[in-house]
Amino acid sequence: MRIKPYQPPVPLDELRGEAEWLCRKVAGRDLWGVPLYIRFQSELPTARGRHLHGCTGPNLDLLFRPHVGRRNWFGRGPAMLICDVAKADGLRKSAAPVYAAHPGDTDLTDRAVASLFRRAVLQTAVHELAHVANGTRPDPKRRAKPAEVEALAKWIDRVIRRPASGDVPDAPPFESHGGPWVRLALHFAHRARAAGVPLCPDRVAKCDQYGLSPTADYLAALGDEPDRLAGLGMNELAATRAPAAFSALWAGDWCRWHDRRNTKLAADAAGTSH
Ligand SMILES: [Zn+2]
Repeated sequence: MRIKPYQPPVPLDELRGEAEWLCRKVAGRDLWGVPLYIRFQSELPTARGRHLHGCTGPNLDLLFRPHVGRRNWFGRGPAMLICDVAKADGLRKSAAPVYAAHPGDTDLTDRAVASLFRRAVLQTAVHELAHVANGTRPDPKRRAKPAEVEALAKWIDRVIRRPASGDVPDAPPFESHGGPWVRLALHFAHRARAAGVPLCPDRVAKCDQYGLSPTADYLAALGDEPDRLAGLGMNELAATRAPAAFSALWAGDWCRWHDRRNTKLAADAAGTSH
């Protein structure tokens, strides 16, 4: 059987424009005049696996450079990869019973899939932007070596094929999604809603998946901060101190994980020392 070529539910150039507009709206003045590169998995010669929603990295712009084209390269800047294939496949799979029930009239289902796909892509873009604001972006004082870009390409290829967990033994599940990142992600979800793009905070920051307290608890601990600091650029926001309730919640989650890990290590050591 011939495998059908992948067709995104929404034209990718259109979606790239929307994602970039939203990121710039949410990031504020700190992205003014700064290039932002957004590429989709299906535009790159990466693997076709499904284990990555998206990623960013300090050298990702250099990896994208040959695919962006000379006319669209404006120098180094933050970059994000959005894995569109897995999102589209997942949505089409879940809509399969509806397509089967209405084989002659797929227009409505196509539109529903396109709308959910658009939302999922924008959620990932805002999620990745929180990593950029948290410091994952090119360092202007440092020249990246070609080997670092090659290593990044290999890492992406590998984690698209299988989950990244286990890359760093004993790393906490919240490794790159700790309190400071959660705070930025929740601010950005709030700003997106204010800009007319209602994203679910717990889809942008899936705290339970990172072994943290529920997203709703983090949101409550922020209080009215997202409104009060709505005018700050993303870097300025990252440099401010979180509300005490938020810091206490994050510290509690951090301590709980390390306590549990130390208890386990002590039990393992006791079990193997005799
Ligand atoms: Zn992330």
